[in-house]
Amino acid sequence: MFDYLIVGAGFAGCVLAERLARGSGKKVVLCDVRPHIGGNAYDHHDAAGVLVHRYGPHVFHTSSREVFEYLSRFTEWRPYQHRVRAWVDGQLVPIPINLDTINQLYGLRLSAPEVEAFLASRAVRREQIRTSEDVIVSKVGVELYEKFFKHYTRKQWGLDPSELDAAVTARVPVRSNRDDRYFTDTYQAMPLHGFTRMFERMVDHPNIKILLNASFREMQSEIPHREVIFTGPVDAFFDHRFGKLPYRSLEFHFETKDQERYQDAPVINYPNENPYTRVTEFKYLTGQVHPKTTIVYEIPKGEGDPYYPVPRPENAALYRKYEELAKETPGVHFAGRLGTYRYYNMDQVVAQALTLYGKLAGVPNRQLAA
Ligand code: FAD
Ligand code: UDP
Repeated sequence: MFDYLIVGAGFAGCVLAERLARGSGKKVVLCDVRPHIGGNAYDHHDAAGVLVHRYGPHVFHTSSREVFEYLSRFTEWRPYQHRVRAWVDGQLVPIPINLDTINQLYGLRLSAPEVEAFLASRAVRREQIRTSEDVIVSKVGVELYEKFFKHYTRKQWGLDPSELDAAVTARVPVRSNRDDRYFTDTYQAMPLHGFTRMFERMVDHPNIKILLNASFREMQSEIPHREVIFTGPVDAFFDHRFGKLPYRSLEFHFETKDQERYQDAPVINYPNENPYTRVTEFKYLTGQVHPKTTIVYEIPKGEGDPYYPVPRPENAALYRKYEELAKETPGVHFAGRLGTYRYYNMDQVVAQALTLYGKLAGVPNRQLAA
C-alpha cells in the first residue's frame, strides 16, 4: 500500500514526491503519462548531441532563498542572466523596453531622465489597470504597445491584450536605464547538468517508485494508495464537469544548424510579421560547447498539450468552481500550473509544492525543506 499516488512528474510532482519520501518517510508512486520525468522542464540531448528543452526554453530565476537552497541539494548551477531581443521595424532591440530600445528605434541619444520624459509624454492615462492592454499603454503609449505587445499577445494567446488580465503583460517590465536582463531576481542560474539530471537526483529514493507512460486513470485502480496528489489539468480530473478550462498550446519546431552560433541573442522575439513568437538558441542557456547549434521556434496553438492557463476573469470564475469541487474531494490534493490553473513560473510551483507538503506533513513553514 502506497501512501501517495502522485500524478505528473514535473516540478510539482517531483518536489512533493521528494519531500514526502525523504522528509516524512512516506511511500510514494509517481506516475506520468509521458515517457520521461521533468514535465515541461524536461531537457535532453537531441540527435546532434545538443542539449535542448523539449517543451520550449526554460530559464530558472527566483527571489526565494528557500526555493533556491532547496533545489541546490539536487544540482550545481551555472550562473546565467537571460537576455532577449525583439525584431521590430527591421532591427534587433532590447526587450524589456529600456533606454537603448528607445534610442535605437527612434535614432535618438536620450539620457535616462529624458527617456522617462519621452515615455511619460506618450503614456495614456488609464483610470484602472485591469487588462494587459492597460498595463502597457499606461506606461509607454499606443505606438510602442503596438510594436512590441499587441500582435505578440494576439498570436500567443489568440486574444487581444484587452481581453487578458493585467498580470500577463505585467511580467515584462519597462525600464529607463540600460539594464537589458529579462529578469532581475536575486537568483538566476541554470542547472549545471540540465533540468532532467536535477529531477533524477530529486526522485532517487527507495520510497519513490516511478511509472512512466502511465496515466492516472490506468494507475488509479492498479496501484493501492491512500491519497492522490494530482498535478495534471484540474478540469480533466473532474471529466470537465463544468466545461473545459481554456489552455493555450504551442507547436515547437526544432532545427539543428551546422555552425557554432546561429543568432545574436539567446532568444529573439518576433512580435509582428511571423507566425512564431520567438526563436531560442539553447546553447546560450546551457553554456554547452558544441560545433553545431539547435534552435526552436514557438508557434502558438489553440489545441494540443495544455501549456498555459489563460488568465482572464471568466476563466478564473470557471476555475473557482473546480477549486470548490477540489476542496470537497477527500483524499485528493491539487498542485502545479495545471492542477491549480495558475500562470506560475518554475520557482512558484516549487514554493507551492513545498507549502502543500507542509500542510500534508504538518511541518511548520520554516522547516519545509528540512
Ligand atoms: P508540468 O511540468 O506541466 O507537469 C505536469 C505533468 O503531469 C506533465 O508531465 C504531464 O504529462 C503529467 N500529466 C498530466 N495529466 C496526467 C494524467 N492524467 N496522468 C498522468 N500524468 C499526467 N518557468 C520558468 O520559471 N522559467 C521559464 O523560462 C519558463 N519557460 C516556459 C516556457 C514554456 C514554453 C512553458 C510552456 C512554460 C515555461 N515555464 C517557465 C513554466 C514551467 O514550465 C512551469 O512552471 C512548470 O514546469 C510547471 O510544473 P508542473 O509540475 O506544475 O507542471
Ligand atoms: N509579451 C509581448 N511581447 C514580448 C514579450 C512578451 O507581448 O516581446 C507579452 C505576451 O502576452 C506574453 C507575456 O507578455 O505572453 C508574458 O511574456 P513572457 O516572456 O513572460 O512569456 P512566457 O515566457 O511565459 O511565455
